[in-house]
Amino acid sequence: MMILRTTPEMRGQSRTWHRAGESVGFVPTMGFLHEGHLSLVRIAKERCDRVVLSIFVNPTQFGPNEDLAAYPRDFARDEALCRTAGVDAVFYPEVATMYAPDHSTWVVEEALTGVLCGASRPGHFRGVTTVVSKLFHIVEPDVAVFGRKDAQQALVIERMVRDLDFAVEIVVAPLVREADGLAMSSRNKYLSADERQRALSISRGLRQAVALYERGERVGAALCGAVAGEIAAAAGRIDYVELVARADLRPVAQVEGPVLLAVAARFGATRLIDNVFLG
Ligand code: AMP
Repeated sequence: MMILRTTPEMRGQSRTWHRAGESVGFVPTMGFLHEGHLSLVRIAKERCDRVVLSIFVNPTQFGPNEDLAAYPRDFARDEALCRTAGVDAVFYPEVATMYAPDHSTWVVEEALTGVLCGASRPGHFRGVTTVVSKLFHIVEPDVAVFGRKDAQQALVIERMVRDLDFAVEIVVAPLVREADGLAMSSRNKYLSADERQRALSISRGLRQAVALYERGERVGAALCGAVAGEIAAAAGRIDYVELVARADLRPVAQVEGPVLLAVAARFGATRLIDNVFLG
């Protein structure tokens, strides 16, 4: 497995593979890998001859009061997991490699990023679309795999790829959970034992909403209320619990077509997100 740290090395390797007729799959991450990330690697391996996984804690997608400095990092562990998973190359650039000191060009999606995490994390998606554009230009993948854990992010990336004619196919993979239901996330490491126990209220609330939906409930307030009630009872601080249309993230009052029930909540200092599809 190669570890590539510069743009010329990464792009050169991708072009070497392409010249040999091999396709390149790509899994962008911020590292501190878990089974959710590895499920994306498996999908990329099924689809492509070669798999690149990037590890880059992208400073431009963090707000000034967010956890950039504290974000968990363990390259040695990530490297071992990638080797076992059969990754061909890890792209592991430094911040200075990705951003010139006078970097001043941004990629901005304008229709889908004003709600949910876009509303509670101003500037977050501008950082995401910019860094993913840069990574696509450096890795030149045929296929890129994103997780549905970040459902809004996946939709924004699909829109960006369509609107700006990136020559990459986007695959969105299922959300992977711990055995007890907690959505896997690198940020789960921050949780104390008590916070982790209380954070189960998020997935429990979402399961209740699914059960209500299956019994015929279609009213957004009732479905969101079930989730919010569980989280509040566990003393979580809710950022949002919202029902939105899956196609364009427009808030909806009723489940009429495919919708996303999305949650962000804090336990202690840790902000967690989760979601389910309904309809
Ligand atoms: P991150 O390292 O958190 O930026 O995530 C990198 C990629 O892994 C993104 O496409 C995420 O959506 C995906 N991912 C993270 N956690 C999960 C999970 N629990 N299930 C599926 N995909 C995930």
